[in-house]
Amino acid sequence: PLSTADVIEEHRICVCVRKRPLNKKELTVKDLDVITVPSKDVVMVHEPKQKVDLTRYLENQTFRFDYAFDDTTTNEMVYRFTARPLVETIFERGMATCFAYGQTGSGKTHTMGGDFSGKNQDCSKGIYALAARDVFLLLKKPHYKKLDLQVYATFFEIYSGKVFDLLNRKAKLRVLEDGKQQVQVVGLQEREVKCTEDVLKLIDVGNSCRTSGQTSANAHSSRSHAVFQIILRRNRKMHGKFSLIDLAGNERGADTSSADRQTRLEGAEINKSLLALKECIRALGRNKPHTPFRASKLTQVLRDSFIGENSRTCMIATISPGMASCENTLNTLRYANRVK
Ligand code: ADP
Ligand code: MG
Repeated sequence: PLSTADVIEEHRICVCVRKRPLNKKELTVKDLDVITVPSKDVVMVHEPKQKVDLTRYLENQTFRFDYAFDDTTTNEMVYRFTARPLVETIFERGMATCFAYGQTGSGKTHTMGGDFSGKNQDCSKGIYALAARDVFLLLKKPHYKKLDLQVYATFFEIYSGKVFDLLNRKAKLRVLEDGKQQVQVVGLQEREVKCTEDVLKLIDVGNSCRTSGQTSANAHSSRSHAVFQIILRRNRKMHGKFSLIDLAGNERGADTSSADRQTRLEGAEINKSLLALKECIRALGRNKPHTPFRASKLTQVLRDSFIGENSRTCMIATISPGMASCENTLNTLRYANRVK
């Protein structure tokens, strides 16, 4: 089992996988759990196959990541290995990003936003809130206290290549790039926050804004990327930024053959942004001079986080355990494999 002694502090790019438990629906239809996590950095997919003579066998595929979290792992534990090591980065004038990547229903929002399954929506256990908690803890340390930093938060969504402010009734915002290649989201609300409670309130506001007017919360959120940022400023100047991103469902890329034009366009846009994201993270990991951030709105607004000397990133690939999800799960694992 994982212990906190296993936390790797110096990684520039960390890629891990998180398996969720079988849910009620999967249990009801007796879906099989085809995922095992045999060690702290290995995940296996056991795909049942049938030969021509109808004999059955399991096709086992093994993937290795920085960490593999099984279905008993809590958000707090996932956080400690993924986003927690990046919190210091933003105090040291760096840029940090943490992504949740995976198919719809695999646990991205649960990981990032918190537990929304019960009646009492609880965002305090998600990575957004846990990161905010530790930002305020670190802020009290004498070493950082003397920097006199202010903390701000933004929360927006990227849907079909357009940016909407979740802290300002989904106002549609323009993205501008100036001559110095600085990217700016014009008019994005940046709220000052003084404590974790303030942040929790903003997450609530953003979450309800995100899903308002939608028939089904997941139908909409599966097609958009949600970006939550914690920004440190010193004398109004940017000191560090932590972007925490709940990505659109990666299965939506397959919608490019849908009969509905809107759905097709959305699918194409999601495909484009997830491919661009992969390339940008790879470029960051290999210290390549060219980061193809212009290829999508998502990577464009995250530009400053991909190019800095002191930029670090972490990807949490979330997977469903069920046999019915096998194909999507393999796609997720292959993508994550390419990022590392
Ligand atoms: P996504 O955002 O990827 O579409 P969600 O986070 O909404 O998926 O998760 C789908 C469902 O599964 C939710 O009801 C959520 O509460 C539940 N779930 C996800 N991950 C876990 C987990 N690790 N443990 C328990 N329940 C989970
Ligand atoms: Mg979600």
